[in-house]
Amino acid sequence: MGKTRGITTLTVDEPLIFEKGSPGRTGVSLPDDKNIGKLGGTLPPNLIREDIEDFPELSQVEVVRHYTRLSHYNYCVDTGFYPLGSCTMKYNPKVNEEVAKLKGFSYIHPLQPEHLSQGAMGMMYDLERFLAEITGMDSVTLQPAAGAHGELTGMLVVKAYFADRGQKRSKVLIPDTAHGTNPASVSMCGFKAVPVKSNKDGIIDKKSLAGVMDEDVAAIMITNPNTLGIFETDIKEISAIVHEKGGLMYGDGANLNAFMGVVSAGKTGLDLIHINLHKTFSTPHGGGGPGSGPLAVKKGLDCYLPVPVIKKKDQNYFFDYDIPGSIGKIKSFYGNFLICVRAYTYILSMGGPGLERASRTAVVNANYLRSKLKKLYDLPYDTPCLHECVFTDKKQQEHGISTLDIAKRLIDYGFHPPTIYFPLVVDGALMIEPTETESKQTLDLFIDAMTSIAHEAEHNPQKLKTAPVKSRVGRVDEVLAARSPVLRWSRGSGM
Ligand SMILES: *Cc1c(COP(=O)(O)O)cnc(C)c1O
Repeated sequence: MGKTRGITTLTVDEPLIFEKGSPGRTGVSLPDDKNIGKLGGTLPPNLIREDIEDFPELSQVEVVRHYTRLSHYNYCVDTGFYPLGSCTMKYNPKVNEEVAKLKGFSYIHPLQPEHLSQGAMGMMYDLERFLAEITGMDSVTLQPAAGAHGELTGMLVVKAYFADRGQKRSKVLIPDTAHGTNPASVSMCGFKAVPVKSNKDGIIDKKSLAGVMDEDVAAIMITNPNTLGIFETDIKEISAIVHEKGGLMYGDGANLNAFMGVVSAGKTGLDLIHINLHKTFSTPHGGGGPGSGPLAVKKGLDCYLPVPVIKKKDQNYFFDYDIPGSIGKIKSFYGNFLICVRAYTYILSMGGPGLERASRTAVVNANYLRSKLKKLYDLPYDTPCLHECVFTDKKQQEHGISTLDIAKRLIDYGFHPPTIYFPLVVDGALMIEPTETESKQTLDLFIDAMTSIAHEAEHNPQKLKTAPVKSRVGRVDEVLAARSPVLRWSRGSGM
């Protein structure tokens, strides 16, 4: 393997600060002790310590380099390609940050009176309108803090809707390609998650659906395009089957990046859909940063949305807390406000045609990867994909190489691995989502790396078994690393 073509920060090996420096080295030069007195006692005597055991002694530039290098350990979209399927790790334009930093947005307090918050409320009102337009829905709440939280809010709305009609429905249908958060949200609301099978084309099997759909089913939770990156072409018929028995169509909108401005979710029959602003609308995510998962609903479900609902009267915005059917609050204040500001900025800077172009480019990029890699990697569903594509390790298994080995080896080539072993319906899945913000050159570098890895799997499988070899920490025991992580350094621990 030649040069690392992705990025190199995964392979930086920076020692701990305790392991650097040398006795007597300092970061700043203070005047001599006797002069300190003359300067008026800059350092009070009680703060002057002769010795601190094991205290690192480094020059200023060493300290700056140390922490700057450490900051690069965190692989991010600003340093390299991040093909994590189902996560839409697109670039986060810096103008979003500039706008979120404006004092009118960042210095505002959530308890500030409404008449002093009109600009911020206007932003929220407009963002709700934009998201309603993009999804083809009627009303939106910005309160949920993430996609899974949007699902929970949606299921609470579904529950309130049936309670209002005096109906006790106990089941929610979940396709076998669904994200794990779907059955979790359903169970948290007291529903039973009932699986629906997909067919050989990777989409929901209408017969299986009709078989399980009855009047005890409150809703189906459907991801479209599904997590195989395949569009549910029968979505309208599925809606008809569900609606006929009085059920609701819930959309997991995490994959909205595949169809913004191209397909109106509302027109496909969905009654509710959550949106992951931190995926589709370019706000930063990963590392536990704040997300935002607004919920959009059709008319007839808006009366259950969380309070307060933002409204406009005579050019003035106000919060309406008087919504008798509301499920109540699901988040403090009004949601993750500054994330909404970033998404709002993104939408305005792209415009309608820009959003559509982003989705179309995301789809082209995924199909480019799919067609270039399908000679080398098994493609379980060989149809054109939308914004992501799913391969397996079937061909490499012949040489004893698994998806995990391929993912680990990508680190040696300087790339973040894609999502692996998801969706669960695909054995040894490698789920790749390039997003629209990657250039052809970047995609080609990734294809080169994947090509080299396929070659190594055949001719030098041991190389993959021991990967990553270039990173600071090599192959860890997956279970031990998760269950008993060693997070504290001690001298001589070899960590
Ligand atoms: C990311 C994702 C979710 C969960 O969203 P979070 O914002 O991570 O809570 C749900 N479903 C799908 C398909 C996803 O990709």
